[in-house]
Amino acid sequence: MRAAMHQAGAVALGQLLRCEAPGVKEREIACSCGHQARYREMRSRRILTVVGEVQFSRPWYLCPQCHEGQFPADSVLDIDRTDLSPGVRRMLALVGSEAPFDHGRRQIELLAGLQVTTKSVERTTESIGEDIAQRDQLEVDRAIQLDLPIILGEKIPVLYIEMDGTGVPVVKKETLGRTARTDELPAHTREVKLGCVFTQTTWDEQGYAIRDPNSTTYTGAIETASEFGKRLYWEAWNRGWTRAQKKVVIGDGAEWIWNNADQHFPSAVQIVDLFHARQHLWTLARLLYPGNLPHQKRWMMRHQPKLDGGRIEQLVSFLRRLNVSFPALAESIRTEAAYFERNAERMRYPVFRRQHLFVGSGVIEAGCKTVIGSRLKQSGMFWTVKGANSIIALRCCQLNHRIENYWEARRTA
Ligand SMILES: [Zn+2]
Repeated sequence: MRAAMHQAGAVALGQLLRCEAPGVKEREIACSCGHQARYREMRSRRILTVVGEVQFSRPWYLCPQCHEGQFPADSVLDIDRTDLSPGVRRMLALVGSEAPFDHGRRQIELLAGLQVTTKSVERTTESIGEDIAQRDQLEVDRAIQLDLPIILGEKIPVLYIEMDGTGVPVVKKETLGRTARTDELPAHTREVKLGCVFTQTTWDEQGYAIRDPNSTTYTGAIETASEFGKRLYWEAWNRGWTRAQKKVVIGDGAEWIWNNADQHFPSAVQIVDLFHARQHLWTLARLLYPGNLPHQKRWMMRHQPKLDGGRIEQLVSFLRRLNVSFPALAESIRTEAAYFERNAERMRYPVFRRQHLFVGSGVIEAGCKTVIGSRLKQSGMFWTVKGANSIIALRCCQLNHRIENYWEARRTA
């Protein structure tokens, strides 16, 4: 039944797409070289549409000056340099953004009855993603050049920004010549910087913050911290940064996060994720009592309340008074003490709790898994930076519910 419907649909569509040869007045059109291209003949082509292969013909123009040929109808139909209709490309990009390309090919065959190659799913997905990435970049660059206006509108009680980094496996050439990283990224991976923006209007009976459902949007790429800062600034501005009454940035201890927060979001409350901070204490507990879990736990019970209670100065001076005989251990303690000291103002957890704010970066950590991990970190996958960034742009666009707008903008372009 579906095959019959497809056949009937393809015939009908072929009729719809049938172009007439241009009238006498439309036999010349502008060529990009500045001269006029002339109508020569009708030429036939096939494209794959959501109802199967369709054949139709359209006028072909040739420039006598530069010998460049053109098919204006192809541009109107958005089928320049592709044998796939926009509808099919949209399907391929959807499955390709969700799952490995070969998996996507099988889905298209099963769900839409269309035969495509794995390569075609890959190429289409990456080219749509790249187009989205380029459009995003244009907006970001424009936003940085102009002074963005203050948008009037409904006030947002609390707006959060969270940032994190996560490694994605890349092909060898993408790590060649790069200096060894200071963080513990495994070999042949590059860091995706991911950010999210969400809002909060209320809290529960115990005073714990409640995130506004469906308010989270994501943005990210493999890029420098400075490029990423601009990208996130643009996203926050889109989400009503200027209308937020309270602004909060949450992240782990990574330096680039706080540099970006200082530069782009200076009016925000800065919070170090409490669970990361506790991990730093656990690291110390393990170093002080190697292999002795009961001792480690007892030590944590004694000292974690200082951290949770925001008494960071007390914690730091306690750490600095610790007497240890091994130089390596002493060094680790100094490093951790410096970490707590540097982030003291970002660890006033009771103050944050009293304002009913989130103190954990759970939203961005979940985002690293759903936006990045589930699609880009499956076994056997190795990405180029360009390929990974196109998939990330496409996934963010989809998760942010902006894909309709994208196709709409393409249609009207
Ligand atoms: Zn020309």
